[in-house]
Amino acid sequence: MTSRDELAKRREAEAERIAILLARQKGVRRASIKGGDGTVAWVSENLCIGCDQCTIVCDDDAIELYLKDMVSPLLEVPSNRKARIIRDACTGCRLCVLSCPTDAITMIDK
Ligand code: SF4
Ligand code: SF4
Repeated sequence: MTSRDELAKRREAEAERIAILLARQKGVRRASIKGGDGTVAWVSENLCIGCDQCTIVCDDDAIELYLKDMVSPLLEVPSNRKARIIRDACTGCRLCVLSCPTDAITMIDK
């Protein structure tokens, strides 16, 4: 029978395998995304769930969160967080695009 220690080790190894796979996939994707000087990130408000991932990866403090009123009064949450790009601070590095779980961020020409 599998012991708890063995199970924990297996789970750890599996988590590491998945992390490596994701990083590899993102590496491939990053190369295929338009970026650099002359580009700036843009957030599609309706896709943004305010998860904060993009602000964590942005080294240039080019993303801020703001509160937006919820569309449906049926939900018992008065407002939702959304991300927006501070255009002048954005260097076009594309990291936020890779970090966004809902594909809310795209790179556009400046
Ligand atoms: S492209 Fe880079 S600098 Fe611009 S908002 Fe995204 S993470 Fe920040
Ligand atoms: S990572 Fe995407 S969904 Fe999350 S706050 Fe940023 S733009 Fe919104």
